[in-house]
Parts: sequence; structure tokens; C-alpha cells
Amino acid sequence: MTTLPRPARTVLVSSIILSLTLPAFAKTPVATGTGGAVATISEPASQAAIAILNKGGNAVDAAVAAAATLGVTDPFSCGIGGGGFMVIYLAKDKRVITIDHRETAPASFTPSVFLKDGKEMDFETVVASGRSVGVPGTVRGWHEALDRYGSMSFKQVLAPAIDVATKGFKVNDNFSHLVQENEAKFAKFPATAALYLRNGKALPAGTTLRNPDLAKAYRELAAGGVKAFYSGKMARAMVDAVNANSGNITLADLANYEARLRQSVHSTYRGYDLYGMPLPSSGGVAVAEALNILEGYDLKSLPRAKAEHLYLEASRLAFADRNAYLADPEFVDAPVAGLLNKDYAARRRELINPEQASAHAPAGDPYPFQDDVSVPLRPNANKLIAEGAHTTHLTVSDKDGNIVSYTYTIESWGGSGIVVPGYGFLLNNEMTDFDFSGPAPNVPEAGKRPRSSMSPTIAFKNGKPAFTIGSPGGATIITTVLQTIFNYVDLGMSMPDAVNAPRLSERNGLATDIEPGFPGSAQAQALEKTGQHWNKTPEEIGAANALVFNPDGTVTAVSEGHRHGVGSALVQKPAH
Ligand code: GLU
Repeated sequence: MTTLPRPARTVLVSSIILSLTLPAFAKTPVATGTGGAVATISEPASQAAIAILNKGGNAVDAAVAAAATLGVTDPFSCGIGGGGFMVIYLAKDKRVITIDHRETAPASFTPSVFLKDGKEMDFETVVASGRSVGVPGTVRGWHEALDRYGSMSFKQVLAPAIDVATKGFKVNDNFSHLVQENEAKFAKFPATAALYLRNGKALPAGTTLRNPDLAKAYRELAAGGVKAFYSGKMARAMVDAVNANSGNITLADLANYEARLRQSVHSTYRGYDLYGMPLPSSGGVAVAEALNILEGYDLKSLPRAKAEHLYLEASRLAFADRNAYLADPEFVDAPVAGLLNKDYAARRRELINPEQASAHAPAGDPYPFQDDVSVPLRPNANKLIAEGAHTTHLTVSDKDGNIVSYTYTIESWGGSGIVVPGYGFLLNNEMTDFDFSGPAPNVPEAGKRPRSSMSPTIAFKNGKPAFTIGSPGGATIITTVLQTIFNYVDLGMSMPDAVNAPRLSERNGLATDIEPGFPGSAQAQALEKTGQHWNKTPEEIGAANALVFNPDGTVTAVSEGHRHGVGSALVQKPAH
């Protein structure tokens, strides 16, 4: 790796000050009350949402305010340099909307963009370069959400985030640790090193970090709207930053970016109606397929280990299909109707042995269950690509019953590692969510959106909102959302318990991913009796956020009790 010159000290001093004067936030991971509610992983972000709700904003306004603040306090997970998927419930219309603002491949992309001499390029080298950067969708997504369904302007909803970026926030252990893990990547890019490193090392926990450049970028959005991002000086700065680092993106790519309003994936599970994200996120389809498979079992009557064994097997089968078939629907004719069909799920269920874990599962054949006769694209590849495990999820409701479930990302921790000089935000590496080589539905192509796993979900019972759930974590997002629903609905856990329970992520790989502390536990040993086995290097899996709409009219906001430095749940009017 080449060592780039250290940033000038003046830049460091202007971006970062040490201070112990700001109050430490006391995070509360669970809160119940009335009015609006919010759960995010960041206290300032949850506070921003509540501030906007208190000013009369609706759930959409508050969600954008929280997201913009997360872009300041959780810049390695998300930001305006990335993209995401928002699911919105409009209470008055009783309608669910989804906004796809996934990053898009520049016009220069071809299926061989990640090949050199016919071989796949090194993954990490591509990540830390302009080649991995897709056209960011976040600002266009926020614009569509506010313009169509919000009640406030960019200026109003960005105000709390501008305040945090200007005054600073206290770096916690988690933040400092993430910088430490990415020191080498961040050191490659002078603007990134200037913002997040000091003498090449991570900022220690307790440092107050200011980001005046990001405050400036947000102020420009507040004044100029969506155009201030996709054209003009900020667009030029992004193009230059990408192209100086082996990328090939143009001002036209930025100017042409569009968000998409898409019909949600609707599925049912044991009396719940679930609404999730459609392609190009595989999340909604994969979660629904796995639940359809599970619905055929009387899980409540089974011992926990037997039920969890079935959960793992259902997930494995759903992932076999997800990996084989799903990609950007504007490029690939994916058999979504077949995959969502309950009879197809019954066919898949026949492959499960309730007593014995299966090995790698092949994809099924959903085409006979399709309700159209379009020429099928049969699966050619069924492999797991390297995927990150990062991102952030937030969820907000308001006093009128509107709800937002929103997952957004820059892909890996710290994305491409490229901070746009003068604007203080990191550019994504979302293009590495494509398969590097084909033939496969998810190969890179110009104007295509890479397949995602993001699974923001809203559930209803008897036509009324019941709960929301979503998570970060790359492909583990799907299993975290699935497992949390399974924990809550089938194992009868409270939502905080369902969220905090150890995660088991089976994605049709060689072994199930698990978290530290799980191996050797009674739960692990019980599952091992059916031949389930675990990845040898446990790691924390996705920090989820949820809302539960209680029968008495209150709402409970649920964030993490221990992951990602504990989350923040707030309600407008706490119940006493
Ligand atoms: N790039 C991932 C996806 O879209 C999200 C990033 C992550 O959570 O690691 O599925």
C-alpha cells in the first residue's frame, strides 16, 4: 500500500477539537409511550427525530432528520454518499410506499469492470478505490420522501444534523474501533485521513468530533435542494474524487440519477401482513420465502432447538434461491411471483429434514409457480459473494399513525474510504455488491443497481400496524429480520428479547454465522444435535431497530441493548 502524505495540521485542527464540555448522552434502548416514536443506533439521531416531531413534522420528516444526523454520528455506516430503501406507511390512505434510492452503476460499467486478465480483481483493492463507487441515491431518496409524503423542507429537517456536525459529538468506543479497523483504508485518502485520523491513528473515544465540511454540504442542500447535490460544485467534487482513484463516473451519471417508487413485497405470516422491500433488494422476497416455508410447521408446539433448526433450514433454502435468481428487476426477469408462492414454499419445505441439518442447498425451480410465462432466466451461478456487514436501520412513527422503516448504507464500514474533499462525507463502495464475474443475474452493467439485502419491514395485524423491524449487516440483514420475526411471533419473545437474542445467520454457506459467546452455550449444543455447525470466527451481527404498536394504543420503540454501543429508543410522550 502506498503511504500518502499526512494531512496538514491546520486541516486537522479545523475539523476536530478536543472538548469535554458536551454532555454524554445516556442511551435508552427501550421506550414506551404515546405520540411519535423512534429507534436508531444513535442518541443524537433519535433526538433529531423527536425534535422534528415536536415541531409538528411527520414520520417522514423525522426519519430524514434522523438519517441526516446518523450521517454525522455514524458516518461509516451511512450518509449522503450512499443509498438506501425506505418503506413508508401512510395512515390516512392506508397505503404502503417504498422508495428505492439504491446506488446505480455509472454508464462506464460493463460485466467485466471487476476483471483483470479474465480474473476477478482483489475485493479489498476494489473496495478502497473509485471503481467501487456507485452514483449515490440518498439525497434523491430524501427529496422524493419529503416532497411527496413529508410536510417540511430540506432546510427544516437538516437543521438538527447541521447543528450536530457544527458543534460536534463525542466519539464512542464503537466509533473509535471502526476507525482503527479502517486506518489503512482511510490513510489512502488525504481528506479522509484529515477528518478521521490523527497522526495516522484512530481518534480515541471521548474526542469531540466536528465535521464543518459536512455541515456545509447539508447547508448547500438546505439552500439548493436536490440539484445542489447532483449538479454544480458538489457533483464536480464527487466526480473528481472518484476518477482520481481509478473510477470512471461523469457529471451526467449524477445528473441522470433517479429514485424509484416501487410496489412493496407483500406476504402473510400467521395472521400478519408483512410489507417489505422489493428488488433490487432481495430482502423482502427472501424473508417472505423463508417465512412461507416456516408457516407449514406448528413451531409453537416444538422445543426451541427443533424450531430453531427449522428456522436455519428455511433460511438456507431461501438463500439458495436468492443467490441464484435475484437482481435488479430492470435488467433481470426474476421469478418473484414463483418464489413468493405458498405452494412453492411447500415444495421447498419437503426438502427439510426436521432431525438433520442439510448440506449446501441447490436453488429450487419457482417457474412452474409463476403467474406469467415469460422466458425464464435459469440460474447459472449459485455462489456467495463477499459482502459487507454494515449499514444502519432506523424506524419512526408519528402521532397520526404514519410509519417509516428505513435502512440506508454506504456498504462496507467507511464505504470506499473516500471522503469528498471539502464536503465531509464518505462515498459508498456499493458496486462491490455486484458479483465480480458471471454469468449470474447480479453482474455489473451500466445503469444497473446491485442486489441488496436491506429489509426494512412493516407488519400489520387485522389491518392495523403491529410492528416494524429492520437491521444492518449485509446479507445477514435478511436473517436478522427473519430471526427477529421468528423470535417474536413463534418463540413468543418480547420485542426487546427478540432483538437482543443471539443471532444465527444461515445463508447457504459452509457454516452458520454466529456471535461471540454463542459457541458452547446450551442453545448451541441443543442445535448441534441435528448437525448444525458454526463459523469458527464469531462476530457481532446487525444492530436492529424496531417499533411495536401495542393494543392499548401506546408504542414501544426498541433498539439494541448491547450491539453497536447500545441503541437509542425515544417516544414523544413517555408512559409513566
Ligand atoms: N450493501 C449491503 C446491502 O445492500 C448493505 C451493507 C451492509 O449492511 O453491509 O445489502
